[in-house]
Amino acid sequence: LMGMGVMATVNQTIDFETATLVAAEFDYEVEKATFEEDTILRPEHDDPEKLVYRPPVVTIMGHVDHGKTSLLDVIRKTRITANEAGGITQHIGAYHVSTDKGQIVFLDTPGHEAFSSMRSRGAKVTDIVVLVVAADDGVMPQTVEAVNHARAAEVPIIVAINKIDKANAEPDRVQRELSDIGLSPEDWGGDTIFVQVSAKQNTGVDDLLEMILLQSEILELKADPDKRAAGRVVEAKLESGRGPVATVLIQEGTLNAGDPVVCGIHYGKVRALLNDRGQQVNSAGPSIPVEITGLTGVPLAGDEMIVLADEKDAKQVSLHRMQKQRSKNLAQTNRLSLDNLFEKMQEGEIKDLNLIIKADVHGSVEALKDSLVKLSNEEVNINIVHSAAGAISESDISLAAVSDAIIIGFNVRPNAKVQDMAAEEHVDIRYHNIIYNVIKEVTDAIVGLMSSTFEERTLGWADVRQVFHVPKIGAIAGCYVTEGKIERSQSVRLLRDGIVIYEGRNGSLRRFKDDVKEVQTGY
Ligand code: GDP
Repeated sequence: LMGMGVMATVNQTIDFETATLVAAEFDYEVEKATFEEDTILRPEHDDPEKLVYRPPVVTIMGHVDHGKTSLLDVIRKTRITANEAGGITQHIGAYHVSTDKGQIVFLDTPGHEAFSSMRSRGAKVTDIVVLVVAADDGVMPQTVEAVNHARAAEVPIIVAINKIDKANAEPDRVQRELSDIGLSPEDWGGDTIFVQVSAKQNTGVDDLLEMILLQSEILELKADPDKRAAGRVVEAKLESGRGPVATVLIQEGTLNAGDPVVCGIHYGKVRALLNDRGQQVNSAGPSIPVEITGLTGVPLAGDEMIVLADEKDAKQVSLHRMQKQRSKNLAQTNRLSLDNLFEKMQEGEIKDLNLIIKADVHGSVEALKDSLVKLSNEEVNINIVHSAAGAISESDISLAAVSDAIIIGFNVRPNAKVQDMAAEEHVDIRYHNIIYNVIKEVTDAIVGLMSSTFEERTLGWADVRQVFHVPKIGAIAGCYVTEGKIERSQSVRLLRDGIVIYEGRNGSLRRFKDDVKEVQTGY
């Protein structure tokens, strides 16, 4: 490999062409034995004859305080009868209710964050969205957001106008406001179902459940209960004594205790199934939420769970996925930094150095841009992907991550959240306050002369809450430590809106009247 200019370590994967060349040197032939997940997962085709109706899965969305939780609670408490086996629901992330006209499954995490994070993992779990709008408050920003999320996912919306018991309730106004964003009731010429409810007084809730079932009839929700089960993770956690525990909503087929499954990057044999009433069950069919144990690790919400023919297959798929995940992580840690720039240039891996420049004032941005672009030579091309005056933001980090760029922060510092994000994404940020040093550092990196590794470690963060002016001493900052700790006579940097205002050491550190060595978070 070295002879061919490939520097690989023992556990590194090399591509097929390289492997073929190396093997040929030793008179061996290489055969491609790719692992195709699909050949193992083999989706069984649905037999239309075998499809049966399944209960609808509902997510409740809406603006904060409009009554999402209250509505879920009143349904749970009043529609699950005490004489029903189990009676009280356990929190497993979803629960089902039975009415005279059929069953409905509710996802227990209201709001569109959970809905969207699942969708971003490719999971379509929700069949119907119930949009809760308070009659005394009307359409609010999160109402609009929820509508947009539901529409993007192409999930039908049923509107529940809540709090109609209130004296200042104006359901007509709410209806008008909703029409403005494209949700009109049938008697206004639209096609959205509206129900007026009061979660507090438990009125209209039966109507709502009936409308949900009506809507689900139109949707013709069907699944084959006879095949091997497939479902989606709604919630998952590690529980002491039980190991990884995941709530899975079965989408097709029937899950049985003892089934070998793949779940995200993990696998296992389903040890026990618990239903939403906390009882052990032997199997679960379409739309039914169950809590399972027996997985090798904790999956993520939205991950797919698939039953396979045997545990060996499940293990193989899981190992393959883990390997893929690992190489993805490796690619991330392998991201460009000034320290490895020269190395990568030598390997011919890169010819471009992408930079993002953030500085305290516009003049510095321009000066840096001009001098840095001039450093381009035939070996390396310097591109300024983005430059602006102002603090380093989260969007700068994302941009750096996707364009494999290095961020130059001139007299600016990111806040703790942005710093964490940069560390997670392995984005290199270089901080400077002298233009000459920026130029020198980049020049050195290009010619492979980066010698000193200067690492800055943050001890803590504090917010200045009040400034006291004392004659002869000057300004005293009354601070609140928000992260880590502040130590006496350490270097400090004063930031305002992410821009460096002052750098130096703290002269003294006191709590009330006493000199102290350090002050911890929360003080
Ligand atoms: P969420 O943030 O959407 O989950 O809203 P909550 O369910 O926490 O409800 C917010 C507040 O509205 C709580 O104080 C509830 O008691 C109140 N609330 C919810 N539904 C009703 C209702 O139908 N009528 C009245 N008067 N108050 C309600």
